[in-house]
Amino acid sequence: MECKKEKNMSYCNCSYPCSSKGICCDCIASHKRIGELPACYFPDDIEKGYDRSVRNFINVVQERGTGYLR
Ligand code: SF4
Repeated sequence: MECKKEKNMSYCNCSYPCSSKGICCDCIASHKRIGELPACYFPDDIEKGYDRSVRNFINVVQERGTGYLR
């Protein structure tokens, strides 16, 4: 299977300098290991705070709903 890194980069909102950008399989695995979610689960203004915890995700969804995820 061909890696879709270039296409994925067009959806990536991560502002952190990271070599996993666009490599979603590595990205989600690395965050899952430490109880987090990738940047794309957060709105841009929250993402840039780098708190990618599940708790922060739940807080955001409770406050804003899931419309921003589309
Ligand atoms: S969300 Fe995390 S793993 Fe993914 S590109 Fe950003 S910093 Fe890297």
